[in-house]
Amino acid sequence: MTEQVGKKKVVLATRNAGKVREMNRLFAELDWEVVSVADFPDAPEVEEDGATFEANAVKKAKTIAEFLQLPAIGDDSGLEVDALHGEPGVYSARFAGENATDEENYRKLLDKLSDVPLEKRTARFRCTLAYVEPDKEPVIATGTCEGAIAHTPVGTNGFGYDPVFFLPGRLKHMAEISPEEKNQISHRAQAMCELLDKLRER
Ligand code: IMP
Repeated sequence: MTEQVGKKKVVLATRNAGKVREMNRLFAELDWEVVSVADFPDAPEVEEDGATFEANAVKKAKTIAEFLQLPAIGDDSGLEVDALHGEPGVYSARFAGENATDEENYRKLLDKLSDVPLEKRTARFRCTLAYVEPDKEPVIATGTCEGAIAHTPVGTNGFGYDPVFFLPGRLKHMAEISPEEKNQISHRAQAMCELLDKLRER
């Protein structure tokens, strides 16, 4: 890893405030200075046009690392619903349209699943993270969080599909658990753990 004077600076290549909040908490134990690409107004917008979470995560991290000449972490995540053959997948953020709100997205999902019984509503969140230092090969890590799509939204915590994502192990919706609890079980937390292990091994 690049040796730097003072704290190691890493740029999170996401402007999603919910994700920045979660990842900052996850990084808190490390002595790294974690900043968001939102702090660099000139940094380019990266279009998420890849066919996989990994392609999008790598594209985000590479673009930002090369532009800012700093290590960057790109992420891509989404929801896979078995009854919809893995949809919405990489399209999770724009399931109900380009500028859809979280609520519009999960309402569309509930509509599409209206005839699907509980036992067939299995789903998982997936996250892929890519750590890229300028001009180096990416380090990739992945995480998943299993659950099921509920019939109605419950809870106000989190973001995205959290109100309709039921956690069978806790008998709660993701939007009902605290940010600390979510950070113990989420796909993003699993991927972060794997990424930190891989970075420590280098
Ligand atoms: P992206 O990773 O920014 O492309 O978008 C991921 C999309 O997947 C978000 O906009 C949410 O709709 C959904 N998503 C990803 N992670 C979570 C999560 O932890 N909770 C709820 N929804 C999520």
